[in-house]
Amino acid sequence: MRGSIPTPGTGTVRYGGNTSCIEVRCGKDIIILDAGTGLRKLGISLLDEFKHKPLNLTLLLSHTHWDHIQGLPFFAPIYESRCRLRILGSEGARKGLEAALTGQMESTYFPVPFSKLPSNIEIEELRDFSFAIGSTLVQAHRANHPGVTVGYRLFSPEGVIVFFPDTEPRTGGDDRDMIEFIRDADVLILDSQYDRAEYQRHIGWGHGCVDDSVALALTAGVKKLVLFHHDPDHDDKTLDSFVGYARSLVKKAKGKLKVEAAREGMVIKLGGK
Ligand SMILES: [Zn+2]
Ligand SMILES: [Zn+2]
Repeated sequence: MRGSIPTPGTGTVRYGGNTSCIEVRCGKDIIILDAGTGLRKLGISLLDEFKHKPLNLTLLLSHTHWDHIQGLPFFAPIYESRCRLRILGSEGARKGLEAALTGQMESTYFPVPFSKLPSNIEIEELRDFSFAIGSTLVQAHRANHPGVTVGYRLFSPEGVIVFFPDTEPRTGGDDRDMIEFIRDADVLILDSQYDRAEYQRHIGWGHGCVDDSVALALTAGVKKLVLFHHDPDHDDKTLDSFVGYARSLVKKAKGKLKVEAAREGMVIKLGGK
């Protein structure tokens, strides 16, 4: 949930310092959103849960900026021949998705080359912006962020999750498309890196602010907003104040929206059961 770079330290223990990575369980399907440094711990827990059984995983990447792919070489299941991993994402700037992912495992950066991995990995660039993973229907939508970046909407039988880790609000008609894309989501995980004043100094950087995230979620009838892509310079206290401020905005608007800030190990259950 951290943006840009991992931030270990005493100031970030509660919300956590790992970069973008979320696991979604829909029935038997395991869908991973982004491969930030949080992926390392997820890999350990998956191997622990599945022991010697085959592991079938799908990874959806928002984009190939470092903080969203850096966990992949440290994802233990890719070193197991019983693991099948399908990676889907936009092409990344210039060289394509496969080059972006395998490049970070070249010998300059990492000891094990991608070609030597014993697992079965398929890398596919998104062609279709609407597809299915098992019983989950997935839609992608372009984000407003440098390079080629997307967000995803997952329709599972239990509910709708929307994931936009890196995006800046647009003005005018484009924003209407975004509102329709996130409409009535049960959970919206959204880039809310800045407060209003910080955002004014970072317009055009491709990240959002709390005020705009709340406004967008309220307009679109979202049920729960999860603030995401925390600024590396924001400690736990600052994030507490972001959550308090966001809730005060909801109250002022007499909305029902719930707001939380993403934190390491956070679990959200959808559906009544
Ligand atoms: Zn990022
Ligand atoms: Zn980015």
